[in-house]
Amino acid sequence: MSVRPQPRPGVMQIDAYVPGKSKAAGVSKVYKLSSNETPLGPSPKAIEAVKTFDHLELYPDGSATKLREAIGAKYGLDPNRIVCGAGSDELLTYLANTYVGPGDEGIFSEHGFLVYRIAILAAGGTPVVAPEKDFHADVDAILARVTDKTKIVFLTNPNNPTGTYIPFDEVKRLHAGLPKHVVLVLDAAYAEYVRRNDYEAGLELVATAENVVMTRTFSKIYGLANLRVGWMVAPAHIADAVNRVRGPFNMNGPAMAAGIAAVQDEEHVAKAFAHNEQWLAWLTKEIEALGLKVTPSVANFMMIHFPETAGKTAKDADAFLSSRGLILRRIDAYGLPNALRLTVGSEEANRLVVEALRDFVKGGNNA
Ligand SMILES: *Cc1c(COP(=O)(O)O)cnc(C)c1O
Repeated sequence: MSVRPQPRPGVMQIDAYVPGKSKAAGVSKVYKLSSNETPLGPSPKAIEAVKTFDHLELYPDGSATKLREAIGAKYGLDPNRIVCGAGSDELLTYLANTYVGPGDEGIFSEHGFLVYRIAILAAGGTPVVAPEKDFHADVDAILARVTDKTKIVFLTNPNNPTGTYIPFDEVKRLHAGLPKHVVLVLDAAYAEYVRRNDYEAGLELVATAENVVMTRTFSKIYGLANLRVGWMVAPAHIADAVNRVRGPFNMNGPAMAAGIAAVQDEEHVAKAFAHNEQWLAWLTKEIEALGLKVTPSVANFMMIHFPETAGKTAKDADAFLSSRGLILRRIDAYGLPNALRLTVGSEEANRLVVEALRDFVKGGNNA
């Protein structure tokens, strides 16, 4: 082979992230239920903020001051400890780039978000996977994999794609068991959807510990996935380190303006929450009534399990649903080849999914 540039070790081990599908062959009307987007769309105030945004020729505020202030006011946080990113994916990557290097290890759980593995490998580190128990993160399994090379632990809570969560007591137990040099990243992308007495996203830990970071996103309940707005809150020393690694103008003006409007529109968030409460419960009940197993979810999506019987598998179900324009998410890449992930959609989409699954289970065809 001729001499040519070679990526550094780890890079070619990365399987590039494959996003949820958005098309189905031969179907004109498509219901995209594959990427946990909100069926309600963003706040009308956020749409207005983008439409009226002026001065595209000027560089944006590189430190996202107003957006950090708006987030700080909403969540009761010191804006100096907030860092904004083009989606929380970018922040997860920055965290890996800041704390992980060749020879270091980063831990995440078996069915955790694929971006962690990519971020650790891209930083030159070694991904370490902790098995889960019944689709829940297992604190003991994570702690058992900590070595003196461990630099970072990623915990999604609630988890994607399983929809499960672990109680805050368990998160605190995980933190208490980690050496103080390890960064614990709490990815709370779906926190706004959860109302459980024993759940907390973990702001208290971030405020009191020197090694805990929380990442949040505007892509889910706020409905701004396309604009790429995320944020993290961290101890001052971590925010400072990440700000050195961060691209100087990583956030664009329209995205920041929309984020500010969205975070201030509590009524819209309440509406999105109420829609999800209603339809998550309805979908779970209706799909279970068809004889399919659904893992109980606290987020805006759920995992539906299919048998391995020929003609009845998750792959078959995916093909059947797609032919009706219902696009769910295959989750083989998460080690879950026998399940599909369904995002809670509009009332119309939800009813069509249940109808289609009923026909699929009965063995009907799509004639
Ligand atoms: C959707 C999601 C995010 C958010 O990604 P963005 O880059 O903010 O769009 C982060 N973590 C998990 C687990 C997610 O599912």
